[in-house]
Amino acid sequence: MTAFDPAAAAAAIRAGDRRALARAITLVESTREADRAAAEALLAAAGAHAGGAARLGVSGAPGVGKSTFIEAFGLHLVERGRRLAVLAVDPSGARGGGAILGDKTRMAELSQRPEAFVRPSPSGGAPGAAGRRARDAITLCEAAGYDAVIVETVGAGQSETAVRDLADMFVLLVAPGGGDELQGIKRGVVEVADLIVVTKNDGALAAAAGDTAAHYAAALRLMRPPTPGWTPCALLCSALERRGLEAIREAVEEFARAAAAAIARRRAGQALAAMRAELRELLEARLEASPAVAARRAALEASVTAGGLPPSAAARALVETFLAASRR
Ligand code: GDP
Repeated sequence: MTAFDPAAAAAAIRAGDRRALARAITLVESTREADRAAAEALLAAAGAHAGGAARLGVSGAPGVGKSTFIEAFGLHLVERGRRLAVLAVDPSGARGGGAILGDKTRMAELSQRPEAFVRPSPSGGAPGAAGRRARDAITLCEAAGYDAVIVETVGAGQSETAVRDLADMFVLLVAPGGGDELQGIKRGVVEVADLIVVTKNDGALAAAAGDTAAHYAAALRLMRPPTPGWTPCALLCSALERRGLEAIREAVEEFARAAAAAIARRRAGQALAAMRAELRELLEARLEASPAVAARRAALEASVTAGGLPPSAAARALVETFLAASRR
């Protein structure tokens, strides 16, 4: 294998080479320590060209219609000259995503379009790491020049707000009928939504969809809007019949205009939070790898479990051991 050339990889991504983009995302998602340096060099090279896309987080309970919606909405955007990337994040950290998505082609029609890039499987690994890698994948998609990046949460009953921390705009999908509790939606999730889309507004479900939209519109009026400059709303959609997509696109575009200042602040905050998370993870990994720490750890843990040593004192002793070993 030839040595990885980050500048060449970044250039291929910028030139629109989708296979280069797919390979690059695999690299930044890799948990192998040996891949980190290459991944970081690539991100540094690509990062200079990132930041240009509207970042959309899409969440909702399993079966609400996320995949179907993203396929229909994505085609709607592509037909209007936009280019978009679709990524999935699995906050449960379930490895491989096999249980949820299998290897089936996601969004079959959209993924055939040259203007779209659909990442077939979600990143796995530790919950925090999944978010970090999705963040890096967004950077790569932006370097590739996509106008919009949709990040979808997959995985049952997990923190829907994982995408909130990655996106500019958080879109919550809800199904017709049933209150929040029945749909398993936590109030906190509704509170951070910039847009609620009631899915399946067709056929026998249309009447219930209308009621559900009215319910959420009323609930939103009582909440403090999560993004200054923008008032959240509830819109109806049928992905099957491709209706309601125009109004959703308009809302997404208006959000970007109206909340531009808040989006810039949000992105800065997200970048800092990502840096801090990375710092914690790196420090912990170094600590785990330290032979000096390993040598003292078992005895200290035994003292803590026996009740002889306060946990805080044991933790401090390990950090001191680590620092002393690092100085040598
Ligand atoms: P996800 O688990 O949230 O990704 O949901 P899917 O997109 O896989 O959809 C779950 C089910 O809802 C599937 O059987 C879809 O055919 C159905 N569905 C999705 N969108 C619509 C819609 O607009 N109308 C109707 N009637 N059914 C839909």
